[in-house]
Amino acid sequence: MKKVLILTLWAAATAACAQSDYDKSRATEVYAPVPRAVDTSGPVPSDAVVLFDGRNLEAWEAVKGGAAKWKLVDGAVEATKGTGDIRTRQSFCDVQLHVEWMTPAVPAENAPTGQARNNSGVFLQERYEVQVLDSYKAETYVNGQAGSVYKQSVPLVNASRPPETWQTYDIVYKAPRFDAGGKVSEKARVTVLHNGVVVQNGFEIEGPTAWIGQPPYESHGCAPIRLQDHGDAVRFRNIWVRPL
Ligand code: MG
Repeated sequence: MKKVLILTLWAAATAACAQSDYDKSRATEVYAPVPRAVDTSGPVPSDAVVLFDGRNLEAWEAVKGGAAKWKLVDGAVEATKGTGDIRTRQSFCDVQLHVEWMTPAVPAENAPTGQARNNSGVFLQERYEVQVLDSYKAETYVNGQAGSVYKQSVPLVNASRPPETWQTYDIVYKAPRFDAGGKVSEKARVTVLHNGVVVQNGFEIEGPTAWIGQPPYESHGCAPIRLQDHGDAVRFRNIWVRPL
């Protein structure tokens, strides 16, 4: 009888102890706010803003003014020499951005080299360029090759595909913050996946990207995404963005 009592007490104590751990575990559980559901069954996440789906350039305008004049070809849009950069009509701050791009074939003889080898670019907030370039078995300064934050950050690897092959950029971007005096209080950060491979891992952007020099940050708000007309027939397709 005594043995049974001891066993019963031991079982009760064990149960109480287990209950106690369960209660402790509940203290760190969070139930709200509940994340919104995003449907990912389609080609584009359900909460994405589609910027270009091959049909028209309604979401874009020419930086020079007026409608975007890049030409539509086979469900893509092609940077059209002399028409200038294009930018989204809508402004964005923190985003996840998906862009697909393709550089044209290069001739076997006298192929363009360096920065002339089919250059374009994706500018975040019109100021910070993730370089688009044919960097497949092609050399240039490494902080200017495909996947670089232009003149600031060399890509971790070269994930480039050959010309005439579609490539992807998936960019996670946190916009810079500025204090009341207009001074940068938190620099922009960017993570870039090139063809699914991380090439920029939370790089802290130093300021606007420039060909010459290193300009400092200047205070700005949300701003368009811009694509570069560098005079080369680089194509883009399937462009969508998720404001974060
Ligand atoms: Mg460029």
